[in-house]
Amino acid sequence: MSHPELMGTGTLQIDLNALVENWRALDRQTATETGAVVKADGYGLGAGRVAKALAGAGVRTFFVAVVEEVAALRAVLGPDPVINVFSGHMEGDTQALADLGAIPMLNSPEQVARHKVRLPNHPFGLQIDTGMNRLGIETYDWSPEMSRDATLVMSHLACADEPDHAGNKAQLRAFLDMTAGILAPRSLSATGGTLLGPEYHFDLTRPGIGLYGGLPFAGASPVARLDLPVVQTRSVKPGEPVGYAHAFIAETPRIIATVSAGYADGLIRALSGKATLFAGDIPCPLAGRVSMDLLTVDVTHIEDMPDHLTILGPQQTVDQLADAAGTIGYEILTSLGHRYKRAYS
Ligand SMILES: *Cc1c(COP(=O)(O)O)cnc(C)c1O
Repeated sequence: MSHPELMGTGTLQIDLNALVENWRALDRQTATETGAVVKADGYGLGAGRVAKALAGAGVRTFFVAVVEEVAALRAVLGPDPVINVFSGHMEGDTQALADLGAIPMLNSPEQVARHKVRLPNHPFGLQIDTGMNRLGIETYDWSPEMSRDATLVMSHLACADEPDHAGNKAQLRAFLDMTAGILAPRSLSATGGTLLGPEYHFDLTRPGIGLYGGLPFAGASPVARLDLPVVQTRSVKPGEPVGYAHAFIAETPRIIATVSAGYADGLIRALSGKATLFAGDIPCPLAGRVSMDLLTVDVTHIEDMPDHLTILGPQQTVDQLADAAGTIGYEILTSLGHRYKRAYS
């Protein structure tokens, strides 16, 4: 395959059609509205491009973590789509919430009070804690009347990626108890909860990772492909070391390819000695440590050396790469960094 655009840095290809297909597939699992979580720059893949593609497919409700993420979205989405902010209405957020028409998901009595004083006519939602103990109004501070005029009452599941975890049913029960009889629309589920079944769907689901091709949505299509240019190849004799700390020592004659990308590009050091790259379909093991800007890869068995090696793509999903580093697909995606050339299709 020729790669005319591949020069000094890797190419991150982002398949917006696959993204939209993943959203549609999750939407088909429910009879209610499906929103989209585009926090952390669209899980590292570019919030503006991602949100625009999803809006084109019919998404009307978006979620971000903090108000600082709203401006870039509003610029591409225009005034109509709803943008909800998980962190609520923090000190210093008032002006941006008002100017950008973003809806805070209020997380505490303090936030509720702040919102009512500062932006009395501005819409708000509420996040309640049903057992994760991370964010949201606690049971002892909650009364259903607080939800009057709320655009949404939401909570978040701690264990939804494990369908049999007892925490799921416990949180579902708590959510049902706390929201019994309220009129405001309700939302409990991200990607994992969406897959748990209809009793978890309520009025709106909020998938993130599944849109971007990650587990726990096993049926997702891959969205990110990452090809890294080969800068140099060299022969290494038995007994010679490769890379920092001589972490790899050749036992037999080896051919080592040096490719352009490193931990500064989100290929975290925990991948050292563990990651696999691909020459076409052929796996090639990382040799030694991940450096800031470079990887060294054992390509001794490759007859036709390509001009690039692939680290994310059909050969290897974000979750498979994450496994090698002992982490999760979410962390690999959101770490990818800003040095790659990005190609959207
Ligand atoms: C990140 C997040 C989501 C999306 O979760 P995924 O597991 O990526 O689908 C939904 N709701 C809240 C509150 C979140 O923090």
